[in-house]
Amino acid sequence: MNTLSRRTFLISGLCFLMPSPWVSALDFKGLMPEFLQWGPEDIKGTIFKNDAPEKLWAWSREAFTYTTLPHGRVQCDICPNRCILSKGDRSVCRSKINHDGTLYTLTYGNPCSVHVDPVEKKPLFHFKPETLAFSIATTGCNLRCLNCQNWEISQAKPHDVRNMDLFPNAVVQEALSTKAQSIAYTYSEASTFFEYMLDTARIARKNKVSNLYISNGYINTDPLLELCKVLDAANINLKSFSDAIYKKLNGGRLEPVLDTLKTLHQQGIHLEITNLVVPGYTDDEDMVKQMCGWIVTHLGQNHPLHFSRFFPQYKLDRLPPTPVATLSHFREIAMAEGIHYVYVGNVPGHEGNHTYCHQCKKRIIERNGYMIGENHISKGRCTFCQTQIPGVWES
Ligand SMILES: [Zn+2]
Repeated sequence: MNTLSRRTFLISGLCFLMPSPWVSALDFKGLMPEFLQWGPEDIKGTIFKNDAPEKLWAWSREAFTYTTLPHGRVQCDICPNRCILSKGDRSVCRSKINHDGTLYTLTYGNPCSVHVDPVEKKPLFHFKPETLAFSIATTGCNLRCLNCQNWEISQAKPHDVRNMDLFPNAVVQEALSTKAQSIAYTYSEASTFFEYMLDTARIARKNKVSNLYISNGYINTDPLLELCKVLDAANINLKSFSDAIYKKLNGGRLEPVLDTLKTLHQQGIHLEITNLVVPGYTDDEDMVKQMCGWIVTHLGQNHPLHFSRFFPQYKLDRLPPTPVATLSHFREIAMAEGIHYVYVGNVPGHEGNHTYCHQCKKRIIERNGYMIGENHISKGRCTFCQTQIPGVWES
């Protein structure tokens, strides 16, 4: 099924369920299993046969980890897709190719997106507040989310966009010159430019610049452990707590993402989690409760959780935005399950934008958009009750 027919199928499926595309998401709560049943078929990405460019380019490097197979085939070992490529094939993420029996990345030193962002935008709310993150992305993603915010670059090949020339040393120099305290690997999917990220992160560490991994968490444990050696913080997008939804909405699986969360936690990396609430897909109350229970059991109470508001886009442009009441309700569920710091994102002015001490409940950081107002954390402690607040507070 090609993209257009899949999309048409999805929209017609929605129209069947909903009197109008703008009906409240709550109206079809409880219909999720049927909805999923009528949704698009498995959207898992496939490799691109005979799609590799004939020649390598300046931004090619041999891949960090792969397995050589008989008949000149290679298997990429970076992410759970574990693409097996014959000579001339391209990976699901579009970044890797089999060039004459060797696996190469085509995304090394050629970001297509470079910005200096407030660290709060990642979002990281408990990591060096009010500092800047030099943020880079190349093309490519190993998932196929129907709601992708950055599909123009995540679902593109490196040859299809305008690339900058910015090798790892230059990234760190640029970060230092913009007074950014960290480098964020973000926007598309950082694990698809793993080699570029790892080399940059190693140089950044030597220069006392922090490394932020902003990711869907769809990465294998061995390369992740290598990255952890030079990683300071991560925000992982836990897209749902259902393997079936991962298959239908994202083209991936849940388990590897949970493994990533556990690894980051065990390695002591500062970790925050984002959960985008997509109406009709990921807004099931019981599932959210289960997800929060899993987080408390396996990761503890101290990793901040961000419930993020969905806005219609990409292949889900007919869905309504997430009702604010749903996000508020999920925040209450998460706190009742025991998570100490729960935020609501993409809703300006919501009380869930601010940080409240988990001990005395007083507001200790006020946020207006990405700007910080009042700040009652000193030396990592709440100034009202002296409780230590989880996070990295000193710049
Ligand atoms: Zn307090």
